[in-house]
Amino acid sequence: TTFLVVSGTCAVLSVGLIAALRSWQRPVRDPTAMGLSGLIGNTPLVRIASLSTVTRCEIYGKAEMLNPGGSVKDRVALRIVQEAFASGRLAIGGLITEGTAGSTGISLAMVAKAYGCRCFIALPDDAAAEKAQLLTALGAEIQRVRPVSISHPDHFVNVARRRAAEDDSAVFADQFENLANFRAHLSTGEEIWSQLDGNVDAFICGAGTGGTIAGVSSSLKRRKRHVHIGLIDPPGSGLYNKVTRGVMYTRQEAEGKRLRNPFDTITEGIGINRETANFKQATIDSAFQGTDQEAVEMAAYLMRNDGLFLGSSAAMNCVGAVKVARALGPGNTVVTILCDGGQRHLSKFQNPKYLQQQGLAPQQSGRHLDFIA
Ligand code: PMP
Repeated sequence: TTFLVVSGTCAVLSVGLIAALRSWQRPVRDPTAMGLSGLIGNTPLVRIASLSTVTRCEIYGKAEMLNPGGSVKDRVALRIVQEAFASGRLAIGGLITEGTAGSTGISLAMVAKAYGCRCFIALPDDAAAEKAQLLTALGAEIQRVRPVSISHPDHFVNVARRRAAEDDSAVFADQFENLANFRAHLSTGEEIWSQLDGNVDAFICGAGTGGTIAGVSSSLKRRKRHVHIGLIDPPGSGLYNKVTRGVMYTRQEAEGKRLRNPFDTITEGIGINRETANFKQATIDSAFQGTDQEAVEMAAYLMRNDGLFLGSSAAMNCVGAVKVARALGPGNTVVTILCDGGQRHLSKFQNPKYLQQQGLAPQQSGRHLDFIA
């Protein structure tokens, strides 16, 4: 009897030990709030004192640069991966692909690792070398392709789409058309609403994929029908025309719906010349145009007066916040998005030498906002 009890116990223990070792070796998916995903979202709101004082409004920025990947795109990457897992299209060991030179690649590479997946990023070979280096450091497989228009099969978005089609375990993230992007930002809107106890009169931001403005406008309008949603659009983008006149008239549109020419503006990540599936979900009340000079002056102004070191789209969003605050008048509470920090822009937007070469060196000083038209 003793022999049977001892050998039975040993057998149970060894089965348990083998199972424990197996699960220890397997990459573990991160569905809990205690893992990386718990660091994404729930970002603080910062009251931008200088802009609030001068406009006599309350102006707030959602500090998205505090996400672990350093940008607003962490929310989108997480939601895309979560939805792909939930639908069974992606599993541990699977591959997620995207074509991007921007923050989405960084966010996807990080989130993929937390979920035990691989990540493939196609990016144009004129993208800054640090970007490729960073993506490689984050464990992504990268492919650099020559910069061609979106209609060309070698465009980085098409390369990423093709790569996913060739591999059964792969999913194309497709941030422009995948509505997981829009859904990720419903919570951005909810956070803004609860952080201000519902005291929000207006929200404004620029649009790249359109996910942010679509998600935030939907959740805020659901809470308060008359909340004002504004769009700030950089040079070369067709969205201002789309919102104000119903069509995109620009040169690029006439040339056949290709993406914004990257040389049209210094701002990165915003501005586009086609209406994406995500942008179509947005409800927008007014649109404003911002110039590169305004964005550059704003970045210098916020550094000087508030200690806020911002990227180009965040600075343009703050230009938009001032424009909508002026349009609505004193006493309103306006919220915008601080998409990323200046650290990621040290070679261009936050580089005085580069700005000088572009004829965009900041001219203003002090606390006036005269630089905004
Ligand atoms: N800022 C940065 C830095 C971005 O990468 C993007 C996304 N392309 C945006 C702003 C625009 O946000 P959305 O794609 O949600 O319109």
